[in-house]
Amino acid sequence: MTDTYKRAVFVAPEQIRFDDVPIPEPGLHQALVKVQACALCTWEQRTYSGEEKFYPLAGGHEVSGVLVKLGERVYTDAKVGDRVMAATLNRCGYCESCRRGMDNICDNARKPLRDDIPDVPGPGGLAEYVLLDDYQLYRASNDVSFEEICLSEPLACVIRSVRKSGVQRADNAVVVGAGIMGMLHVTLLKQMGVRVIVSEIDGTRAAFAKKYGADDVINPTDAPFADQVMQLTNGRGADVVYCAVSVAAAVEQAVEAVAKGGRVHVYARIHPKGSKISIDPNPFHNKEIVLTGTVSQTKEDVLEAVRMISGRLVDLKPFISLTLPFTRLEEALQRAMQPDTYRVIVTM
Ligand SMILES: [Zn+2]
Ligand SMILES: [Zn+2]
Repeated sequence: MTDTYKRAVFVAPEQIRFDDVPIPEPGLHQALVKVQACALCTWEQRTYSGEEKFYPLAGGHEVSGVLVKLGERVYTDAKVGDRVMAATLNRCGYCESCRRGMDNICDNARKPLRDDIPDVPGPGGLAEYVLLDDYQLYRASNDVSFEEICLSEPLACVIRSVRKSGVQRADNAVVVGAGIMGMLHVTLLKQMGVRVIVSEIDGTRAAFAKKYGADDVINPTDAPFADQVMQLTNGRGADVVYCAVSVAAAVEQAVEAVAKGGRVHVYARIHPKGSKISIDPNPFHNKEIVLTGTVSQTKEDVLEAVRMISGRLVDLKPFISLTLPFTRLEEALQRAMQPDTYRVIVTM
């Protein structure tokens, strides 16, 4: 008799099925991880609410656990029993994007890449076990909590964002939106010696941003966004504006608020799909501004995030709002969608 484990599958809006599936045996280049914690990102939240309708989906991509079994040809310094971060997103390693240093947008990320094609597509971290290919395994510190280790994934996304934005020490940066992703930007930017202005409508989140590092907090409904940014930067504008909200109008406003040579960085996916913006093209010429963005993270970013968390170089505990057992996944998803939570994590 093979042992089985529990796995959550999103099957329809607000409908989750719990499957019992056989615990897999890792192949030569694979590792088996016993999941301990999985954080609920917007992907899982939108799939649960029905805003994103890709079903069935074995969700869960912010995952930490214990390494339980290694294939013979996995060359890692992680030993059985060690705490690891499981980077469940696929990167083929050989497509043109991967070979050009952009494995975060691997051309084959959504295709089945393994011989043991799972019966349900998806990263599959909302489960008691997860099977990884060797490159998806990252050894973490055994002294750091699983809840913190699983936040390596969102932290890695923000590491990429901050790196690619080209922000420099003593720059004026604006972070639009003080949700968890906005707050991870604030945290990293403050570490780098950047002056950070946060733009947030919600009073509770604004206060939270102020408490956890923002130098100034503005409310874009009080006065025009660009006017407020200009006032706080001696009329110069922001060197970088990070749009960490899904609202298209935020990008338009950001273009009006950047300094000469500044960058507008679209971090969050804009909703609904197909949204358009209308901007004056002249500042791209007159002020040499740049409109750019990032998505997800490369494997280098993941390594940096795991090292930061393992070395306690960053404290993400304030952003963990709630931890619930895996059996209460639906309740956890409902709480995660409330505006008063940052990250909600389920533990196995
Ligand atoms: Zn995520
Ligand atoms: Zn690829």
